[in-house]
Amino acid sequence: MSTLFSQIIAREIPADIVYEDDQVLAFHDINPQAPTHILIIPKKPIATLNDLTEKDQALVGRLPLIAARLAKQLGFAEEGYRVVMNCNDAGGQTVYHIHMHLMGGRRFTWPAG
Ligand code: 5GP
Repeated sequence: MSTLFSQIIAREIPADIVYEDDQVLAFHDINPQAPTHILIIPKKPIATLNDLTEKDQALVGRLPLIAARLAKQLGFAEEGYRVVMNCNDAGGQTVYHIHMHLMGGRRFTWPAG
């Protein structure tokens, strides 16, 4: 099923893209929860973390690598940042195309809300 992230990948709706390769796209969240809030997504449409298979291991492994690279480029790697992947309704997932949130530029608390 197509989600709005598939539409962003296809450039059918606009997004502020900060990184792209053949497998991954990263763009600013439309409703940022931190001074910098980027979504890092595989181009392959996988609905939730529960739908991952062994074949997706390398692809999903790219997400934190790219998060760390962007954090360094954007200047908050050393001070620290938060990455989050929400799964299904109770986990707070609203878009059913897996994505990693990269948030930086403020202090985060734990446990998350
Ligand atoms: P989730 O709640 O599924 O973990 O995260 C989905 C994220 O997508 C939310 O943080 C939300 O603000 C963001 N989002 C929803 N619609 C759009 C959109 O049209 N463009 C962008 N850039 N982000 C969106």
